[in-house]
Amino acid sequence: MKTIKDVNLTEKRVFVRVDFNVPLDEHGQISDTTRITAALPTINYLIQRKAKIILASHLGRPDGVKQIKYSLAPVAKTLSELLKQPVLFLPDCIGEKTVNAIHRLENGEVALLENIRFYKEETNNDENFSKELAKLADAYVNDAFGTAHRAHASTVGITKFLSPCVAGLLVERELEFLGQKTADPKRPFTVILGGAKVSDKISVIDALLDKADNMIIGGAMAYTFLLAQDHGIGNSLAEPDKIHTALTAIQKAKEKNVQFILPIDSIVTNHIDFDSRTMGIMQVADLDIPEGMKGIDIGPKSIELFSQTIQNSKTILMNGPMGIFEIEESAKGTFAIAEAIAKNQNAISIIGGGDSIKAINKSGHSQDVTFMSTGGGASLEFLEGRPLPGINVLDK
Ligand code: AMP
Repeated sequence: MKTIKDVNLTEKRVFVRVDFNVPLDEHGQISDTTRITAALPTINYLIQRKAKIILASHLGRPDGVKQIKYSLAPVAKTLSELLKQPVLFLPDCIGEKTVNAIHRLENGEVALLENIRFYKEETNNDENFSKELAKLADAYVNDAFGTAHRAHASTVGITKFLSPCVAGLLVERELEFLGQKTADPKRPFTVILGGAKVSDKISVIDALLDKADNMIIGGAMAYTFLLAQDHGIGNSLAEPDKIHTALTAIQKAKEKNVQFILPIDSIVTNHIDFDSRTMGIMQVADLDIPEGMKGIDIGPKSIELFSQTIQNSKTILMNGPMGIFEIEESAKGTFAIAEAIAKNQNAISIIGGGDSIKAINKSGHSQDVTFMSTGGGASLEFLEGRPLPGINVLDK
């Protein structure tokens, strides 16, 4: 796959698909700029090459309807502050006015188009809309790893009408860490998966059992595995219909000589109130959770057990929280594991998924991990070994 380093983009008008789908707070303010910061290396590289840069992104799910709350205007302001140069915000992403404004761009100038999902043609990968987008530029760059698993007009359709079509530096780094570094990992290679559902992650578990030395499972997912091994799980969140899937994964781990590590204790409660973020009675339960209690986090012995494996690893991949980390009382496990990963400075550590990244950021250890993937769903699909449409269409 070619990247912006392999082609000459000097003084060209370059359409760059970025992922500025940032979280907004209740006042419409950007609450986390990670995704904007992640695109800066590519934008700065193109500025230095004196390209005319046209940035396009979606924000939220406006479903083809122009809605002010999903406007990218606040992103243009933040981006301008981060780049320390003006960013021209255009209130549309196609049409004569947009084309004219783009044609007035000088070398090294940056424009940001309004939310491309204000057109339903974007997610429909509409050919005419793709053509309209292509009219803005001479070349195409995809640096939106987070949407690379979607075949949309700005990720796939547009590439039919522009040449060259290459990857940006963020996409290059994502593929390097999620691809090369895990395909031929320094060993031991430990995978830590958490979150709510086995059904969401079973394909990733299956694919990574071919590569990992240790597979650690935390979060609610673990309870389906524990249930499959006939442990009591009380009222914990689990998927009883996925017991067979869980047993197949455990069997595969045995065959592949992968250590399959489940929690050996849990923090449990008899009641959670998500609105007030409070819990009822809380206690530590060993492997079997009493009736009426719900597992909400991994317990201290599990933290110890998981941390020991993490300490001895040379490559670590984490995706998903170890408990209900949105509530302070059940966030300890996730933070402890994030800290254990950050402390292992001898390992390549790769963190994926919005929740895990939030946990690393909150723990203050973001500087100590090797790579944080911005991908979300795209990271999981890539780790599953599925081809990403937005990557496949780029020049080889
Ligand atoms: P996922 O989207 O699959 O990565 O799952 C993330 C969600 O899993 C978070 O919202 C967590 O609160 C939730 N989660 C993690 N552990 C548990 C648990 N023990 N019980 C209920 N939900 C959990």
